[in-house]
Amino acid sequence: MVSAMVLAAGSGSRMKSKTPKQFLMLGDKPLIYYSLKTFEASVVDEIILVCRFEDIEYCKQEVVKKYDFTKVKRIVAGGKERYDSVSKGLKALNKKSDIVMIHDGARPFVTNGMILGSISAARRYKACTTAVPAKDTIKVVDTDMFGIDTPDRKTLYQIQTPQTFDRRLLEEAYSRLRSDENKNITDDTMIVEKYMDQRVKIIEGSYENIKVTTPEDMKIAEALMK
Ligand code: C5P
Repeated sequence: MVSAMVLAAGSGSRMKSKTPKQFLMLGDKPLIYYSLKTFEASVVDEIILVCRFEDIEYCKQEVVKKYDFTKVKRIVAGGKERYDSVSKGLKALNKKSDIVMIHDGARPFVTNGMILGSISAARRYKACTTAVPAKDTIKVVDTDMFGIDTPDRKTLYQIQTPQTFDRRLLEEAYSRLRSDENKNITDDTMIVEKYMDQRVKIIEGSYENIKVTTPEDMKIAEALMK
């Protein structure tokens, strides 16, 4: 059984808007609608939606009920950091689920192909993420903003979501993370690498699979919709 956790508990401070970015309107629907619709229409068995406590009622009425997302089995309150939100979502999974997909609700252009590719790679390799080759040259800088290294671009990938895992592996990684005080974590692939020594398979994402973070991204998302 496959569960998808869609994360929408960020405050969206970089969007400079009172409405969290995942609920801004894209076309005539809230941003979060698009990824939920793609997961709903896929082979995924259940969806866990993670949002801020104060947005639970909105999500229930204005998203899940309104668009009849029958696979959304639970709406749970997230936490301060992204990994706190994932941690809470993990506790809401169906007992029978053995594969967990984690997706940023702020990425509306996830595709069915990415979902299928992720599930089969997770079954084979236990951990995978979608990604795209870096287009720009990337520099490592020091605290005075001088470049100290320029890694070979051919080896650099920009990491996206969905990120998909064997459920037991991810749960064990999170139980180790909870007892670690020195967390410096931006996504779940880092967590299984750091705490489980697990290699993560990179699979093909898309340059259109953007994360809507700033007002400019909203304009790009509107253009991609057309
Ligand atoms: O902040 P960032 O852009 O990394 O957020 C990526 C995704 O994680 C967004 O969909 C956001 O809503 C979610 N998130 C969350 N809980 C947090 C922080 C971010 O669910 N505490």
